[in-house]
This record gives sequence, structure tokens and C-alpha cells, in this order.
Amino acid sequence: MAKQSKPRIAVWKFASCDGCQLSLLDCEDELLAVAGTVEIANFAEASRAMQPGPYTVSLVEGSITTPHDAERIHKIRRDSQVLITIGACATAGGVQALRNFKDVKDFFNTVYASPHYIETLAKSTPISDHVRVDYELRGCPINKMQLLEVLNAFLNGRKPNIFPHSVCMECKMRGTPCVMVAQGMPCLGPVTHAGCNALCPSFARGCFGCFGPKETPNTASMSSQFQKMGLKDDDIVRAFRSFNACADPFRKESEAHEK
Ligand code: SF4
Ligand code: SF4
Ligand code: SF4
Repeated sequence: MAKQSKPRIAVWKFASCDGCQLSLLDCEDELLAVAGTVEIANFAEASRAMQPGPYTVSLVEGSITTPHDAERIHKIRRDSQVLITIGACATAGGVQALRNFKDVKDFFNTVYASPHYIETLAKSTPISDHVRVDYELRGCPINKMQLLEVLNAFLNGRKPNIFPHSVCMECKMRGTPCVMVAQGMPCLGPVTHAGCNALCPSFARGCFGCFGPKETPNTASMSSQFQKMGLKDDDIVRAFRSFNACADPFRKESEAHEK
């Protein structure tokens, strides 16, 4: 009987801080179990073995910011049966997408001593702006248990069980008092995707949206609540313009309050 080949996993990096790939390495015990059932064919952060495709599942971290990367992602898509983007950079352009609100050339002379070496695109864009994406996993960084769930689901031909609700639901489930209600502290939790187990509110801090927009977020209502709490337009622009500044619902809400 012919030997059954293992599913082949590849991990790719574009413009990013590597934090989401580190979340994968942080799986430790769980990763050993996964590694027994799959072949890690390409994962530069963890191994020198860089095998050619085709790959069963590609995990893609980072945003597209250079002409070279805009070409590279197409080859990865062609070589991959399933392509999953991981983290705020790959799903929304990341913190580097803050440049999308300005002319990128204005930054060249300010930031770099030799700006003539810079070859960059005008915007930092998510992977889904360039190729078809099978699943987007949010977070900055991603939650490792959610990542294992998504990998497990795609390797077993089922739908990932990632809840679409907000951080508020996680506060309720763990019994954390609401910092907005109890302490009058601004919190983006009502419009932010769950995944962190309401980490910041559990330390009496408001959420600043690192898991990006939840499904169907009411960002206008969130801003209205912020205004009732005394936040000015500038504060609201800043609140929505961080790790997920170019995720559509957050981008539109920040632009609505920009003078
Ligand atoms: S989403 Fe955040 S943690 Fe992940 S690569 Fe981008 S900056 Fe790093
Ligand atoms: S603290 Fe924030 S995330 Fe938690 S319930 Fe209140 S508004 Fe929602
Ligand atoms: S900023 Fe919000 S989403 Fe990020 S860890 Fe804190 S509570 Fe969770």
C-alpha cells in the first residue's frame, strides 16, 4: 500500500514584526502534536529547511508594502491549497498602514538618511487586497489557541469554530466588571473582535482594539458613547487609528471624525 503523505504547512512573512509567527512557536506542547501529523515545509523563523510547493496550508503574516512583495504573494497563492492570513498586518495592513492616510514620500526624508534606496508602495495593504484568502485570523498578535483551532479545522475539512462576538462577551463570561460603566474609561471592546479573553479590562484598562473589528460593529454608536464621555474628534480618530487603522469599519469611523 502506498504511504500516505502528510499535509504540508508553510509559513510566510511579509511586512511585520514576526510576533504572530512567534505565537505559533509559542504553542510548544501543542505544536509537537501538530508537527507529528504535518510536514513543516517552509518556516524560516523556525527551520532552515525551505521546501518547494505545493503546500496544503500556507499561513501568511504581514502586509504588502513593496513591489517585490506584491509579486511574491501571487506565487505563494498559486502554490497553496489553502491560504490563511494571520494577524492585524496581514488582515488589515497593520500599524504600518498609518502611512495610508498621508503621502508616503513625505516620510522618506524625515525617517531615512539615504531615502533614494527606498523602494516602497504608496500604501500598506492586507493580503486579501492582492489574492484570494480562505480565512482571516485577527489579532496583534494572534491568539495561539485560535490559530491551532483554525489549522485543525482546515486540516480536517471543517469550518473553524472562532466566535464572531466582541470583547464585551468575554468580559461577561469571565465576570470582569465593565471599566466603561464602572470607571468611565473609554473602551473599544464593544466593536472589537473577541480572542484575548478580555485581557485589558481584567487589568482595569480599556480595550484599544488590537483584535480588530468584530463582525458588524456599530462604530458610529461607539463614537457617540465616546463623545458623551467627553472625548473630542481627535481622540476618536486616535482610538480607531492604531493596529487596525485600515480595517474598513475602523478606517471609515476615524475618517468621519477627521477635520
Ligand atoms: S499583527 Fe502585530 S504581532 Fe502580528 S506581525 Fe503584525 S505587528 Fe507583529
Ligand atoms: S470593559 Fe470594555 S470590553 Fe468589557 S464589557 Fe465594558 S465595554 Fe465591553
Ligand atoms: S487591546 Fe482589546 S483586544 Fe487587545 S488584548 Fe486588550 S482587550 Fe484584548
